[in-house]
Amino acid sequence: MEKLLLRNVDKENSHTIDVYLSGGGYRAFKKALKEMTPDDVVEEVKISGLRGRGGAGFPTGMKWEFAAADVKEPKFFVCNADEGEPCTFKDRVIIEKDPHALIEGMLIGAYATGCRYGYIYIRGEYPIGRKILERAIAEAYERGFLGENILGTDFSFDLYVHSGAGAYICGEETALIESLEGKRGEPRIKPPFPVNAGYLWKPTVVNNVETLANVPLIIERGGKWYSQIGSPDCPGPKLFPVSGKVKRPGVYELPMGTPLEEIIFEHAGGIVKDRKLKAVFPGGASSSVLTSEEINVPMDFPSLAKAGTMLGSGAIMVLDETDCIVKATLRLTEFFRHESCGKCTPCREGTDWLVRILRRIEEGKGSEDDLDVILSISETMENSFCGLGMAAHNPAASTVRKFKDEYLLHVKLGRCPFRSV
Ligand code: NAD
Ligand code: SF4
Repeated sequence: MEKLLLRNVDKENSHTIDVYLSGGGYRAFKKALKEMTPDDVVEEVKISGLRGRGGAGFPTGMKWEFAAADVKEPKFFVCNADEGEPCTFKDRVIIEKDPHALIEGMLIGAYATGCRYGYIYIRGEYPIGRKILERAIAEAYERGFLGENILGTDFSFDLYVHSGAGAYICGEETALIESLEGKRGEPRIKPPFPVNAGYLWKPTVVNNVETLANVPLIIERGGKWYSQIGSPDCPGPKLFPVSGKVKRPGVYELPMGTPLEEIIFEHAGGIVKDRKLKAVFPGGASSSVLTSEEINVPMDFPSLAKAGTMLGSGAIMVLDETDCIVKATLRLTEFFRHESCGKCTPCREGTDWLVRILRRIEEGKGSEDDLDVILSISETMENSFCGLGMAAHNPAASTVRKFKDEYLLHVKLGRCPFRSV
């Protein structure tokens, strides 16, 4: 497949505006600004079928339509670059290697929705990305793509970078907005959705980095062209970060809907030392596990939902036969316990109890009843206030269901069978 999202990343100095312009950069923005009305742009994105790449897969054109229809001013356009899910490192490639594609996507989105100010909220752990973005924004101002009356039109847009302080919950869009306002990053109740009441309670579009990098392609080549790539009801190119026990870990650009098995065994080279694949978390750390018998599944939002898990950020984490499923689950759940903001009881208490129970099973001190307790806690966590708590129990609940024998072996042996004695 022709490289689309990663078309620039192997070029020398790909992060500079000169290299971006020499490859046709900012042509789509000029086209939108000079030849299309804001409504035309929204319509083109709707035709493309682009769905958000942050994890939830909400239709981007629809989000923009809602924001464009809101008359409150000023409106804000925010890029969520708080990429914090364990094993998710796809946005980083765009931020560091092709920052102008992100800025161009934001400019087109801001024009389409009538936003005057923009923020890129980048995770604190991406200091290099922050510097690269700041330099790219300065270059875009110098060349007249940002600021007042851009390219002689009445469209004005100012863009700033804001760095997070290391809290995973700030990737949740309403916690991100709270943090941007200078407050503690805790989620707000939804609705109202940010498109109507976001930053400073004004209409605010929040889009993920990868989502925005798709936008110049759609405007330049057309929504119809884009809609024919990948899965019909979930089209476009997709970045898949693959990690764990594969021979060639990395970020792969493939059409949405590429089978998981193909990604692992063809693109990522198969399992290290040709061992057996044991399990895969197909959509980041908060997705439900798939067994080796379940990996012939198209990697898109509807197919993975049908398979009882989710595409999420598209981050594929592979475990082989030498990995302990209990230990892997414990590690993931420890992450969520640490990152739970503590605002609501099911998540604050649930993640803590899951960690305690998983740890005692892993240490060989658990009982068979613990498995039912894990499932019961998971059920309660479904009622958490935000997506973090609603999904944090997925690794525990799904591995207990699908790898029950391995959990029971820990109980029976009184130790981890994968640990040398
Ligand atoms: P969500 O379904 O609540 O919302 C998705 C987006 O659509 C949001 O921008 C929301 O404002 C918008 N939206 C939804 N319904 C709307 C409506 N009726 N009107 C207007 N706008 C509407 O999901 P979420 O909680 O924002 O995101 C959850 C996802 O984030 C999970 O699936 C998870 O995979 C992912 N995630 C990603 C990372 C990462 O690092 N990329 C980290 C953690 C979680
Ligand atoms: Fe905070 Fe977790 Fe509740 Fe979300 S689910 S509000 S992260 S405690």
